Amino acid sequence: MAHIDAGKTTTTERILFYSGKVYRIGEVDEGTASMDWMDQEQERGITITSAATSCYWKDHRVAIIDTPGHVDFTAEVERSLRVLDGAVAVFCAVGGVEPQSETVWHQADRYRLPRFAFINKLDRIGATFPRVLREINDKFGNCAAAVQIPVGIESAFSGIIDLVTREYLTFEGDAGEQVVRQPIPAEHQAAADTARLELIERLADHSDDIALRFLEGEDVPADLLQSELRRLVRDCRIVPVFAGSAKRNIGVQPLLDAVLAWFPSPEDIPDIPAMSAKDHEPATIHPDSDAPFVGFVFKLVASTTADLYYMRTYAGTLKIGDSVYLPRTNSMVRVKRLLRLYAKQVEPIDQVGPGDIVGLIGPKDIVTGDTLCVRHKAVIFEKMTFPEPVISMALEPRSTKDKDRLDEALTLLTREDPTLSLSRDENTGQRLLSGMGELHLEVLTHRLSREHKLDVNVGRPQVVYRETVTSEAEVSESFDREIAGSRARASLTLRLGPAERGAGESFEAEPGAAAGIPPEMLAAVRESALESLGAGAVLGYPTVDVAVRLTEASSPDQTPNDLAFRAVAGMAVRRALEAASPALLEPVMDVEVIVPDEFMGEVIGDLNSRGGRVEEVQARGSARIIKVFLPLSKMFGYATDLRSASQGRGTFSMQFSHYDFKN
Ligand code: GDP
Ligand code: MG
Repeated sequence: MAHIDAGKTTTTERILFYSGKVYRIGEVDEGTASMDWMDQEQERGITITSAATSCYWKDHRVAIIDTPGHVDFTAEVERSLRVLDGAVAVFCAVGGVEPQSETVWHQADRYRLPRFAFINKLDRIGATFPRVLREINDKFGNCAAAVQIPVGIESAFSGIIDLVTREYLTFEGDAGEQVVRQPIPAEHQAAADTARLELIERLADHSDDIALRFLEGEDVPADLLQSELRRLVRDCRIVPVFAGSAKRNIGVQPLLDAVLAWFPSPEDIPDIPAMSAKDHEPATIHPDSDAPFVGFVFKLVASTTADLYYMRTYAGTLKIGDSVYLPRTNSMVRVKRLLRLYAKQVEPIDQVGPGDIVGLIGPKDIVTGDTLCVRHKAVIFEKMTFPEPVISMALEPRSTKDKDRLDEALTLLTREDPTLSLSRDENTGQRLLSGMGELHLEVLTHRLSREHKLDVNVGRPQVVYRETVTSEAEVSESFDREIAGSRARASLTLRLGPAERGAGESFEAEPGAAAGIPPEMLAAVRESALESLGAGAVLGYPTVDVAVRLTEASSPDQTPNDLAFRAVAGMAVRRALEAASPALLEPVMDVEVIVPDEFMGEVIGDLNSRGGRVEEVQARGSARIIKVFLPLSKMFGYATDLRSASQGRGTFSMQFSHYDFKN
């Protein structure tokens, strides 16, 4: 995981090569990386979808997911971190801790994922190991401990010193496939000693054994460092830091060795938290192969024929032909095929045990986030949450005869991608596709033409607004009409007002307010009221951060009708939204621009003219990092403007920060 361009895919390709999975190193720059297998990935040279693969390293199978770095594809990162047992954060030795690296790091924090840091690109001009190490420590709570240091830097970067074993490692052969271990050369001994002492000091904070030896001035042997690192990595207390250059084939094999040595194997995670499917009571799952089966579907690739599900297995054994229980729909699904995944390639297998990541072909009822299990011991895992789309685009088939095919293709794409949403304007026939950013939607429209051979007219990207209210309103409504041949009446009074930003939408009945109606009617009112917030009073965008309080509800009918209560609740909320001073909220982005010093004035001038308030300017060598908040609507086309303001030398990245009132 990492910011875009740190070298994740390049590193993964080396792993596949050294482990014998591929016979030739795939290169991102030549469009031959096996992990970036989609057309759009090979053309753009970026990872868009997280590709799962596996390899054998010293008789252990290692499951690997290479994630995208661009913030538009954050859902791919989220679902990957959800099912993995460890994460290697890749940092560029020049760029350091870039914004998206920070984001994914915090995502990994949420799952308490053991972590390594790999400082890559040490061969580049301007690379420094100590500065990036310091940045990692500054930004992530002093968790990092270098277990290696580089020998030489930039074009003279030649190998690494392993501080644990006290060896000098070089990577020989055509593609660095031969790891040569030698004693530390005399001229690097002093630097190695200092760095090893720093490692020991850092570990001593968490380890009595090491602290004792350190205080007594005794040597700390390699095997004690090994075992303590293993423990502290699993406890998420220490992040070992590695050095290398994937492109130059330096440092990849030791990283893999450490994956085996220090990351937990699935068997090392004995109590996996889950919930009973029946009553949501906590349950724990143990990774035994003869336990009842439990698996979690974290991704799917949709097609018109059969869908391919990516599943992490947690317990039990699953065989082809087995039927498994799907708690969400209370139904059984049959496992038609099981597949080992090698990015785009697959290989059939007959069965799978716990702690694996495999492909599964089965019926279409499964969605991302589903748990599969056995019926008599049904459990579910906590749901994954994904960010809401902030940008949308109108789509229209060039030829009306393609209308149905377009709908079909869009359905497939939205089924795969939980950060996409689709709506349709019945009047104009336009489809409105909403997603995470310009790149996200652009890639999707290309996929429509490439994979689905569809010609579409694409509108300009538009911001997806939210709405809220700024004052309180009280509304009484009543309903009196015939429903299915009998008179149905309902009336109610509710108060609607603003809640704190980020509080979400709530519905509450005041004590006694619903005393006169059956509980099912109150449930209908609640559901309809919350649903009606989905269309705001300004432009029909979802209304957020509002509190609805029901103060009175009644019906003179013998058997009140829930449709009448639904209708009256909807009418009341719509009127209350209009009366409560509704306002538009727009997405505000957290923007980071990196430019050479000489262009800083011009770039800041441009940011100011967009209404941005510069928060901070940092120096990194001769480059300046400008941090600024700007509404998303002001950022359309920024890439082009930045290019001209900086003679093509500036770069920027942005991610959603919060919603704010639109002025
Ligand atoms: P990702 O976005 O993290 O997957 O990064 P990629 O693996 O696609 O690499 C981005 C770019 O950096 C490509 O042009 C790579 O060739 C280049 N690259 C990756 N690793 C290194 C490295 O160690 N040194 C240098 N100089 N370039 C590298
Ligand atoms: Mg990549």
